[in-house]
Amino acid sequence: MWHSDAMETKYDVIVVGGGPAGMMAAGRAGELGARVLLLEKNDQLGKKLKITGGRRCNITNAEFDNRIFLENFENAKHFLFSPFSQFNVENTFEFFEGRGLPLMVEDRKRAFPQSERAEDVSNILQEYVEETGNVWVKLGSEVTEIIKVDSRITGVIANGKKYLGNKIIIATGGLAAPETGSTGEIFDMLSAIGHKVEASDTNLAPLKTPAEWVHLLAGALLEEMTLRYIQANKVKFKETGRLLFTHFGISGPLVINSAFKVGTLLRDGEVEASIDLFPRIEAGDFDKMILDLFEANKNKMLRNVLADLLQKKLLEVILTLPGLRIGEKQVNAISKEERKLLTKTLKDLRFPISGTMGLEWGIIADGGVVPREVDFKTMQSKIYPNLYLIGDTLHINRPSGGFSLQLCWTTGYIAGSHSAS
Ligand SMILES: Cc1cc2nc3c(=O)[nH]c(=O)nc-3n(C[C@H](O)[C@H](O)[C@H](O)COP(=O)(O)OP(=O)(O)OC[C@H]3O[C@@H](n4cnc5c(N)ncnc54)[C@H](O)[C@@H]3O)c2cc1C
Repeated sequence: MWHSDAMETKYDVIVVGGGPAGMMAAGRAGELGARVLLLEKNDQLGKKLKITGGRRCNITNAEFDNRIFLENFENAKHFLFSPFSQFNVENTFEFFEGRGLPLMVEDRKRAFPQSERAEDVSNILQEYVEETGNVWVKLGSEVTEIIKVDSRITGVIANGKKYLGNKIIIATGGLAAPETGSTGEIFDMLSAIGHKVEASDTNLAPLKTPAEWVHLLAGALLEEMTLRYIQANKVKFKETGRLLFTHFGISGPLVINSAFKVGTLLRDGEVEASIDLFPRIEAGDFDKMILDLFEANKNKMLRNVLADLLQKKLLEVILTLPGLRIGEKQVNAISKEERKLLTKTLKDLRFPISGTMGLEWGIIADGGVVPREVDFKTMQSKIYPNLYLIGDTLHINRPSGGFSLQLCWTTGYIAGSHSAS
């Protein structure tokens, strides 16, 4: 229900923030008969949702086994069993498909609407909010204060106006893409009333390197490689999969998912990345393979011989590295040292990592209220039982691939259900 000013002054439930989590919560509470006020500071609902997944919206991850799905949430998985037993990936499919938005599943189980339009996802939620007839939506309403009387939250102040509610749901998002409205001022308000808010940091982000030869590879994609992260000459961890070079460093899901760990390592000192371009072949076998290749192509130019092994852009850049400007040489003129340096480089292509790309590039910012202060059976604050915290307002690390939005659907639905009862 849309109108210019609230007709009611006291609501059963006030939802602050009209993103995916807030719309789900408001719709669900309204569906159960609660009189709900949804306050959104933008002039539209779901502004960030509409740009998710390159505007295609990776709506969830189609892993229907809760246990396997929750393995992706690191330490928070223990908190999430209870909410996922109430609303899980299967329920998300039912919810959207039941409302006329069929989903499709792509690689890594990433689910998207078949229409490939994030806007459709937002519209479905908006309809959900509206169809109940119980939800008053106030756009352009920025909450600047959470009202606390003794040990209870009694309402909020938006645009200088007081709104009272029996239950208050905070769904104001984290700090990624602040231009969409999630600028994080609610975190200060939550801190002021005693909640512990973990500082924001990049969680999922591409990695930067100062190595200019890496920048020259921008756009090149390695379908299969192993990436090792090295600190003080020790391999700290490694990942195998696809890697994308960019004009500032490296990206792709595998890199993005490592950013949190790399960011942590960087706090302790310098970090190097090492790419093994031939991860399926042991170093000894690889040396032999190159020897055999050289033996069979003695009179050919090295550049031409390597063209069968490496994509052109990568080959050209490797042949500019120190000691490897030997592309024009005939294979039988290559010294043993040069051959050894070449094989070593192909198995251990190293460059320094200088940092993550920061919030403006992050897919998801971590930071937010610490999970231990929330009762995940209901999403109630353990400090204020009539306050609910959902979606990106919670400090939960997760990879890309639809996991963030699933967290919104689950926590939004549960907060909506319990606040309405
Ligand atoms: C570019 C990009 C692409 C992404 N793609 C995906 C993807 O494909 N799949 C996926 O799972 N996740 C994706 N994410 C993450 C996902 O968008 C977030 O996890 C999700 O939007 C969080 O939803 P939310 O409802 O908690 O918060 P938000 O979507 O941030 O919504 C919060 C809302 O609260 C409003 N608000 C904030 N403060 C106030 C206030 N004081 N008063 C009133 N209103 C307020 C904001 O204006 C905003 O509308 C992506 C993120 C980005 C930045």
